[in-house]
Amino acid sequence: MLFAAEPLASARRVLKQYYGYDTFRPMQEDIIGHIMAGQDTVVLMPTGGGKSVCFQVPAVVQEGLCVVVSPLIALMKDQVEALKANGIAAAYINSSVGQSEQQAITGEALNGYLKLLYVSPEKLLSEGFLTFMKRLRISMFAIDEAHCISSWGHDFRPEYTQLRVLREQFPRVPIIALTATADRLTQRDIQTQLRLHEPRVFLSSFDRPNLNLIVRPGQDRVGGILEFLERHPGEAGIIYCLSRKQCETLTQKIQAKGVKAGYYHAGMTPNQRGSVQEAFLKDDLQVIVATIAFGMGIDKSNVRWVIHYNLPKNIEGYYQEIGRAGRDGSPATAVLFYSFADVMSLRDMLSKDDPKLTQLNLTKLERMQQFAEAASCRRKILLNYFGETLPQDCGNCDICRNPPTTFDGTELAQKALSAVVRGRERMSLTLLIDVLRGMRNQAVLSGGYDQIKTYGAGRDLPYLDWYSYIHQMLNDGLLYIAYEEGYALKITDLGREVLQAQRPVPMKKFQPTEKAEKPAKGRKGAAAAAAKAAPVSREAQLFEALRALRKRIADEQGVPPYVIFTDSTLQEMAVERPVNRTAMLAISGVGMKKFETYGEAFIREVLTHGGNPAALAELDEDAEKFEPQETKAPRNRRKKEAPEPATQASADANSTMETTFQLHRMGLSVEAIAERRGLAVGTIQTHLSTLYSRGYELRIEDFLKPQELAEIQTAQAQLGNSPMLRDLFDHLREKYDYFRLRLALMYFKKLRGE
Ligand code: ADP
Ligand code: ZN
Repeated sequence: MLFAAEPLASARRVLKQYYGYDTFRPMQEDIIGHIMAGQDTVVLMPTGGGKSVCFQVPAVVQEGLCVVVSPLIALMKDQVEALKANGIAAAYINSSVGQSEQQAITGEALNGYLKLLYVSPEKLLSEGFLTFMKRLRISMFAIDEAHCISSWGHDFRPEYTQLRVLREQFPRVPIIALTATADRLTQRDIQTQLRLHEPRVFLSSFDRPNLNLIVRPGQDRVGGILEFLERHPGEAGIIYCLSRKQCETLTQKIQAKGVKAGYYHAGMTPNQRGSVQEAFLKDDLQVIVATIAFGMGIDKSNVRWVIHYNLPKNIEGYYQEIGRAGRDGSPATAVLFYSFADVMSLRDMLSKDDPKLTQLNLTKLERMQQFAEAASCRRKILLNYFGETLPQDCGNCDICRNPPTTFDGTELAQKALSAVVRGRERMSLTLLIDVLRGMRNQAVLSGGYDQIKTYGAGRDLPYLDWYSYIHQMLNDGLLYIAYEEGYALKITDLGREVLQAQRPVPMKKFQPTEKAEKPAKGRKGAAAAAAKAAPVSREAQLFEALRALRKRIADEQGVPPYVIFTDSTLQEMAVERPVNRTAMLAISGVGMKKFETYGEAFIREVLTHGGNPAALAELDEDAEKFEPQETKAPRNRRKKEAPEPATQASADANSTMETTFQLHRMGLSVEAIAERRGLAVGTIQTHLSTLYSRGYELRIEDFLKPQELAEIQTAQAQLGNSPMLRDLFDHLREKYDYFRLRLALMYFKKLRGE
């Protein structure tokens, strides 16, 4: 029997050797410890949180085979490909696998070669397969997308409810269930239906700080999307639509702009769908326009944005869909187009459902609507929904980046309320705005609304402004919507008080969208930067070259590019420029197998982009010195050479700086990090400059533009080579604060190779 500490040490070695990662993410380690102690485990983690590692690593460490139940063929294929690329023996069996191949796979399972076997629930439950499993040594069962078991959920799969036979037939084999859906009913269903034995439930934070959350008014959506695409060239993204027709027409419009786009919906044959999905995974299509049929189990880690053309039905669905962006942890964007008309059509749709579910669904829709109409930090609202609280505003949503200003909206409100009353409470929202703005269209004229006193009283404000203010009035309870009367607006008692000037109405100023989407001060959104940065940096050039190389190799091997390396791994290569084995293996995401397969090609690419040709010789020399065990313990990691913590205090200091570093890497500005962590801006600046001095890579361009660096460099030269900061500060007439000066000096030092 192994002693307690050893399995985790092996798990860490496996993580480094096969995945190329130095450390487990928070919670992964606990989960793995628990599983390896043979206990049932439930894991609730958001998409991109790193669930796969939780069962794959123990599967490699432990003896025997891990059987993974997975609901989707595409998902199995991707995961198995990714495992193989990392050098882990894995296979899948489902209806798409031919008889002879199945035999080969079962053979490999029997002789103990395979570590992981993915199966569809149908296959697993078949008589023959259960008998076959009896002949295997099974280390554990992993139930992926376990929320499919719950009839309350949105992905219910009847076959999943029969999975209890696993417990009945294999009472001693531990079960780990994983899902990105966190609600309580689902959690309970998973535990009871799988007959889990006193499972430990790991509920990770559902926060995805790298996702920039944006809501835009639903006018001119197509224009908005085309403009968005222009600002995000070459970045992979998904657009969710409600209808098949919408998918197809929008795709055409995007294609007409020269962007490689395809659509995906349930009206297509499985073959058509498969090939579109494949093209997207392989970066042959940049954009997918899809109904919600698309995306479950999509493992593509470099999806940079998700757009919702329509309001989703509930926050669970929305969160799962936007979670498909930025799985690699790099900055990503989620844009939701919102209009009240969407709420109305969804209400109609949901009211036709099973009456037992209608009330629940309508309540969920209301929460979704509240999110879209919010005037305070959106991430707080989302996390709140999942039962989490964020102590500070997030700094990475449209509201936080551009906080609305308040003004006295009493007069505006009175105009609108008066029009509602004079129109005998029969106008819908759009009609009310038209009347206020003095429009002369069919609906206005035929209702005789051009005759009422308030007709045209709000001419001075654009449509969208009125739209926002009337929504605020709805939210404040001055008006309500009579759904059963053609969505007519009615005044409430509170509204009457306003009309009688007995109550002031503070309102949030409406912000046009261009302003709302501007990146926060000091933050270089990866996306915006890619589009706008005038001179393309050396780093960006190398990144593009590495991406192209990845695509060539992927096509040759017939695998999706991200299976070779993720975007964040390439990004790190572009910054670190590894030209030998040690440096390459220090890059996060480069494990042994991948290094052996691709290392040299990528090193050569780095070298052709300004690397030192003499280093090639070094590379060959290095080859002889190299021994595989060296990689088992992470070492010599240039980027993170934090000294051994001597005391607990210094260990804490390191970990708080590490947190700052992570948030910086996600693209948050200093102010946003400070706000988020409840620390002073100065503290965060100290963290960053200390990190920089220790060799961590910061995005210097966030703090100093090239011409500013040049200016400081000139000043430095004028003052002699190592001036005091104070002198530099004065010499530059206090233009730069000490933080930026310190960074600049360190930057020059690094340039000189000191
Ligand atoms: P999920 O299944 O929860 O959606 P994945 O398991 O696909 O998430 O992980 C998301 C991404 O994070 C993948 O690219 C994965 O390789 C990466 N990842 C997982 N664990 C770690 C870790 N400990 N360190 C660095 N990256 C990790
Ligand atoms: Zn926020």
